[in-house]
Amino acid sequence: AQERFDAIVVGAGPSGNAAAYTMAKRGLKVLQLERGEYPGSKNVQGAILYANALEKLIPDFREDAPLERHVIEQRLWTMDETSHTGLHHRSDDFNEERPNRYTIIRAQFDKWFSRKVREAGVLLLCETTVTALLRDEKGKVVGVQTDREGGAVYADIVVLAEGVNGLVGQRSGLRPELKPDTVALAVKEMHFLPPEVIQARFNLKGNEGVVIEAMGTITAGMTGTGFLYTNQESISIGIGCIVSDFAESEVTPYGLLEAFKAHPSIKPLLENSECKEYAAHLIPEGGYKAMPELCGDGWIVVGDAGQFVNAVHREGSNLAMTTGRMAGELVADLKERQAPCSKAELGQYRRRLEATFVMKDLKKYRGIPDFLHGNKQVFGLYPRLFNAAARNWFRVDGIDKRTKEKEILTAFRKGRTLPGLINDGIKLARAWR
Ligand code: FAD
Repeated sequence: AQERFDAIVVGAGPSGNAAAYTMAKRGLKVLQLERGEYPGSKNVQGAILYANALEKLIPDFREDAPLERHVIEQRLWTMDETSHTGLHHRSDDFNEERPNRYTIIRAQFDKWFSRKVREAGVLLLCETTVTALLRDEKGKVVGVQTDREGGAVYADIVVLAEGVNGLVGQRSGLRPELKPDTVALAVKEMHFLPPEVIQARFNLKGNEGVVIEAMGTITAGMTGTGFLYTNQESISIGIGCIVSDFAESEVTPYGLLEAFKAHPSIKPLLENSECKEYAAHLIPEGGYKAMPELCGDGWIVVGDAGQFVNAVHREGSNLAMTTGRMAGELVADLKERQAPCSKAELGQYRRRLEATFVMKDLKKYRGIPDFLHGNKQVFGLYPRLFNAAARNWFRVDGIDKRTKEKEILTAFRKGRTLPGLINDGIKLARAWR
């Protein structure tokens, strides 16, 4: 007879691992299927790990997780062709006993997380792709079809943690196809440098780290952002833009990254480094409005597959872990009550998420994707105006400050007109609410 499981988890990224771990810890019999050679082999992230989400699963993760640097300084840059104007926050308070954010290398981190998941009792099969969902005569999902010989497996629930592409969900008609204007394509490189060089370049000691998030002319008029994160012996640098913008432009993702690396504010930070890795990946950026159906009879969606990404704050892995954990908890609760994994029962998932930062944040920023797509001046005109204003203001050249103020205001009015400026401010405030 076919072996049955309480739950099958599709994917071994942070969301799938969180779901599988939670259910196994509560005594469920869990099968996890991962198409990659090992967990993490297919995954790409910047990558900043937010401790809070992981602590809720594995409180003592700091003891053996492969962490790179804890973040003590955040730089937010708006860039034009030659300059950047920044908002920097650095605090010794981030040198706390249990730091809040770390840089990580996903391939290593996912392997570690997966080990914890297996130690909790989950059966993991790698190099196994789920090709379809299996349903009973009433349409309830009862298992999955894999690409292995005789590859049908059955369970009370299938947790779709398959990441942004969500092909299983799509092919099974559970969610619509990804729209090119709700997803970003990001490219990333790893540049290796001795730790002492990284420390000197970023004014760091020990395991302290710096992260830079950047926007402006670096995305060639497209909606997107760039980033640079310090690891122990390497720097992760990447840039991503909305897919529909790439489709309309002549610019290639790789060309964009090359130009970002050559920017005078970035180039010295990478000098003499050795680039050893290149990766490209999609990021769901449609937010709240792009969220697909989250559950149905016998299935539930977690992580990127559910569009759980807060693009404004560049948070994804924490939403993935939180949704994975909460889906796992709900399934374990239903099992305990001997309740079915029906659409009605699983409806609690969304209600429980509504009470957390996940839905609250996505709801708060629901207008931001449309604002950013519809207002490209945010990525070209404004960064140029801000940087020109800063250059003018800080240059000491015998021109009095009142005249400088007038020049700056005139430049803004010429660039955007007064009603245009006011209108943009109102639109942003509305989207930000
Ligand atoms: P994934 O990590 O994509 O995992 C899905 C897994 O499912 C994969 O292992 C895949 O191989 C497997 N899979 C897919 N289909 C199948 C199938 N049919 N059968 C079997 N297995 C399958 N988030 C942050 O919090 N901080 C950051 O700094 C950050 N930076 C980022 C930078 C970049 C360039 C990118 C691309 C993303 C970044 N994110 C960041 C987002 C973060 O990576 C994601 O939100 C997170 O990885 C989502 O986890 P997940 O488990 O849902 O999906």
